[in-house]
Amino acid sequence: MKIGVLALQGDFYEHLSCFKKLNVDTFEVRSKSDIESINGLVIPGGESTTISKLLKSTKLDALITDKSSKGMPIWGTCAGLIMISKNITEGDPKPLGLLDITTSRNYYGRQIDSFIENIQFNSDEKFFEAVFIRAPAIIKLGRNVKTIARSSDNTPVAVRQNNILGTSFHPELTSDLRIHKYFIEMVDIIN
Ligand code: GLN
Repeated sequence: MKIGVLALQGDFYEHLSCFKKLNVDTFEVRSKSDIESINGLVIPGGESTTISKLLKSTKLDALITDKSSKGMPIWGTCAGLIMISKNITEGDPKPLGLLDITTSRNYYGRQIDSFIENIQFNSDEKFFEAVFIRAPAIIKLGRNVKTIARSSDNTPVAVRQNNILGTSFHPELTSDLRIHKYFIEMVDIIN
């Protein structure tokens, strides 16, 4: 199994090191040919307008959409979640539309309003420390989207629709690898 992390902008390095800790082969994805060698893709957090521009200029946008429709497991975190959404409340950037949710880009405010909250992931008894940085919020869910975790205000913060996983926080910034493991299992089952 080889997991690719989109490495155009944002905190891709942190995701790569989480997967390495779990002994999974990883790959930095920067071009169309990079996608052909992977079984699953992570779109990391960062800045969604920048990621969007780079996805367009590398033509990775259309290829990722195509791979997603063919069942490739894809996980978007934070800016990555914004990118995989079907709709966003702002006019910019144009999301890829892989996950049937509406996302509000800077719902929780500016960088200074970033916060950490203990959430319950996938009904696990042990709490997961979720780091929210200029975090987006999922404000509307399609019928086929399953909520895996909610924040204390009841907003979904981890959701899944078939081969697509989205988290509005940054699991790659803590030492808890449970969500990376969850994605590895998704890749394992789907491939
Ligand atoms: N809100 C940011 C954006 O619109 C994403 C923040 C993040 O990825 N930490 O791009």
